[in-house]
Amino acid sequence: MIPPKTVRSLRLRYIVGLSVIALLVTASYFTMQRVISDQRNFSSLVNLAGHQAGLVSRIAYFSKLMATTEDEDEFNVAQAQVGRTIHKMYTAHFQLRNGDTEKGIPKITNEKLLSIYEDPMFGLDLAITRFLEYAQIVYETDKRALNPRSPASIFLSTYGPHVLEPLLDAAVEEYQRISKSAIVRIEHLEKGIWIATIIALIFEVIFIFKPLEGHIRTTLHSLENSISNLSGTRERLLAAQKLASVGDWQFQLDTKELIWSEQIFQICGVSPKTFLVSMETSQQLIHPDDVKIVRSALFRAVRHKQPVSLEYRIVRPNGNERLVYQQVAPITDMSLPVKRLAGTIQDITERKELSTLLEKQSENIPGFIFQFRLNPDSSCSFPYASRGSEELWGIRPETIRQNPQILFDMIHSNDLARVRNKAIASSRKLKSWRDQFRICLPGEETIWVEGHGTPERLANGSTLWYGYIWNITDRKHSENRILELALYDPLTGLANRRLLQDNLKKAILSARRNQHYNSILMLDMDNFKTLNDTQGHNTGDALLVEVGRRLRKCVRDSDTIARLGGDEFVIVLEGSGSLEKDALKQSLAIAEKIRNTLAQPYILGEHKHVHHASASLGVALFHGNELCESELLKRVDVAMYEAKELGRNQVCLFRNERLAQISSHSAISSKLQHALDNNELSLYYQPQMDADGLPCGAEGLLRWLPPGNAPISPGTFIPIAEETGLIIPIGEWVLETACKNITELSRYQLPPDFALAVNISARQFTDKDFLNKVQAIIARNNIDTRRLKLELTESCLVQNMERGSQILSTLREMGLHIELDDFGTGYSSLNSLKRLPLDTLKLDGSLIREIEGDSRDEAILRAAIAMGKALSLTIVAEGVETLQQNDFLINEGCDVLQGYYHARPMHFESFIEFLSKYSMTPDVYSPLPCLNNVYHEGFREILTVGKMDRFAALSI
Ligand code: C2E
Ligand code: CA
Ligand code: CA
Repeated sequence: MIPPKTVRSLRLRYIVGLSVIALLVTASYFTMQRVISDQRNFSSLVNLAGHQAGLVSRIAYFSKLMATTEDEDEFNVAQAQVGRTIHKMYTAHFQLRNGDTEKGIPKITNEKLLSIYEDPMFGLDLAITRFLEYAQIVYETDKRALNPRSPASIFLSTYGPHVLEPLLDAAVEEYQRISKSAIVRIEHLEKGIWIATIIALIFEVIFIFKPLEGHIRTTLHSLENSISNLSGTRERLLAAQKLASVGDWQFQLDTKELIWSEQIFQICGVSPKTFLVSMETSQQLIHPDDVKIVRSALFRAVRHKQPVSLEYRIVRPNGNERLVYQQVAPITDMSLPVKRLAGTIQDITERKELSTLLEKQSENIPGFIFQFRLNPDSSCSFPYASRGSEELWGIRPETIRQNPQILFDMIHSNDLARVRNKAIASSRKLKSWRDQFRICLPGEETIWVEGHGTPERLANGSTLWYGYIWNITDRKHSENRILELALYDPLTGLANRRLLQDNLKKAILSARRNQHYNSILMLDMDNFKTLNDTQGHNTGDALLVEVGRRLRKCVRDSDTIARLGGDEFVIVLEGSGSLEKDALKQSLAIAEKIRNTLAQPYILGEHKHVHHASASLGVALFHGNELCESELLKRVDVAMYEAKELGRNQVCLFRNERLAQISSHSAISSKLQHALDNNELSLYYQPQMDADGLPCGAEGLLRWLPPGNAPISPGTFIPIAEETGLIIPIGEWVLETACKNITELSRYQLPPDFALAVNISARQFTDKDFLNKVQAIIARNNIDTRRLKLELTESCLVQNMERGSQILSTLREMGLHIELDDFGTGYSSLNSLKRLPLDTLKLDGSLIREIEGDSRDEAILRAAIAMGKALSLTIVAEGVETLQQNDFLINEGCDVLQGYYHARPMHFESFIEFLSKYSMTPDVYSPLPCLNNVYHEGFREILTVGKMDRFAALSI
């Protein structure tokens, strides 16, 4: 179709074009009129001017006749002719000069004509006036007096015409020229008008007819398309109607005209060629029992002006009965009476049979099959509900169909909103509905069901679901059980590591999103192992359950409490605050509350055993920006271990420095293994001297000299080796090395009690294979066991004094010396000292360092020495740095002295060299069966001369 705007513009162009052409035609008409009238005027002018010449000749002729005739009558006639002609000439001249509107003679305006007429010497005016004056004289002169040779007669017959003729010819010529040029001008004008008309026509063609033609063509084309589309649609509609067994009809109420679509004929089993469609004939096809309901439905549609639908039977002429579904819609304005009804008829015979069949079959399917309809006004219904509802809900399907709400009322209140929202979403998006929810049956039983439904949109905007609901209670229970097992700790019911990780991840995200701090707490029950070992696992489990219960009381329900296994628990606290300071305060307060709660006595087991326990807690805050769950767990673990180290029953906040320390530890521990494998470790010896200042042994001290790097002190790497367990292979290596060195030394003449001491760490000692390993090494190296001393600290014996004593006794029986190292640093009870099979007591360097000038420290040291003596132990002092310390210790009865004062720890080769200074090696001292006084005496000298300087070079 042409757009209205274009139509308007075309119309305007057309009007303008037509107006222009009309103007041009009018102009042309008036120009032609003017041409004609001008031509007429000019011809009368030319005639008149030409006539003047004739008149002149006539006057000349008749005046000559007057003068020459003898006959009276002829004279009179000539005279009358002259008179009349004079008058005519006058009149003509007057008309030519002054114009005559009546005769269309214009007044002379042309310059050339004016000069022809008005020239004072040779002007036509003058010539005519004079000619007519002479003519008048001749006319008035009597016959007798008239002489042909009179000047007047001569003038009239010769001179007059002679003068006048050329003048009149010139005037006529000028008149003709003027007429011609006027015609030429008008011709030009006419040509202009013709061209303008042609142009206007061309414009009209270009700007009006061409576009109009285009538009008309497009409109025609689109009309053709629409027609073909319409017929296509109609064909498709008919095909669809055929497929769906649906036909449509229309009924005009006033004319009673009824129109059927092809499909209705088919449904009714009649031919469109033979069956005459009308209300009456169509009613004859309706089953007699149903005629009434059909009629009343149609009346209802007309009266209430509302669509109606109904099912009824028709009987085909061949007697075949069909069930049809009819929908009727009145077509009208609400304010006017209904004029037309339109409707569809669908053959639902097969469908009905199928649905009856389905209904029968569905009765055998466990579960509830339904059709649920949700209308735009939020009302709902169950057009179909299977018998399964009785089994599932205990409600008859008829009841559900009458009151759909009854089902919703039984849905668990926690699930109802979700079920409803999902159904609404399914309706909106026309995507299948799927949900699991609980149904509360009468009698407090709750079952789990799962429902599926596929929605479709109905013509009136309602949604109809075809669905199925079945009982999944058993499955749900097993699922829940699996879920519980997968996510919860079966003992305490707290979250397990997996759930903790999920929740922690969420807490990190929420902290990031809400810009606040959350915190994580990790706690470990102190000495839990002991409880487990002494009271049995059941009591241990009871404690853990109680811990879980107490923890729940300390935090909010929304916080996560997890048991990671053993006696380790983690708590994630959310929303600790948006300021770090506040969050810290709050988290520490909660941690403190937990610590306190867990420190309260526990009453455990059947025997109501009262148990005192405590927990060590680590706390770490997180803001969600940089940390992942594992990193956070590591941090809080670090903090918790610090709490343990600080003496347990403590709360410790995570510190970055601590983490750095730990990571350096782990770096060291990984390098240490490598060091052990690549001979980066070596065993140095620090000589030990007797009271006489002679070497009586040495303590083996480990050195780690990584190639290209600074030496790492044993103070740093030994604790790490202990932590990681590497101390066990390292310790074996030390023992092995010391044994080899003892074998090496056995070639030399040494005092009988000369021995090398090695340090045994607690971890090494408590290793169950310790004794076997020592025995194996000794056996392998076949050493004299009296040459080997083992230095142990009290920590080796703390855990299991009895086992420790046994091992020590065995070792002693083998001939080894047992030395208690670092005496004076721990809490040594005389009682336990007495029970231990020891040979030597080694006073810690710190005790020695303190003594100078402090009488109290001296007293402590004296007491320690006295205690050792009382137990018949050899007393060794380590860390002897000065002569004063040395003398003091000797005075107090110390047997052996070790320290920088005598020598620093040194390489084994240097140690041999050191010994050579005391003539103990073959180089300087000839092999003697035993020590003698000479050799002793020789050393004493050396000892007195500042040994520090002399041996400093050998040591490191
Ligand atoms: P420790 O058993 O108490 O060893 C004595 C420490 O005192 C040694 O430190 C030694 O070099 C140092 N020392 C000796 N004389 C003096 C002195 O006059 N002044 C001062 N300030 N210090 C002196 P080192 O070698 O650094 O060893 C540190 C600790 O490492 C040892 O303490 C021992 O506990 C451990 N350790 C060393 N080697 C071994 C080993 O082979 N096995 C085991 N398990 N531990 C070892
Ligand atoms: Ca030691
Ligand atoms: Ca020591």
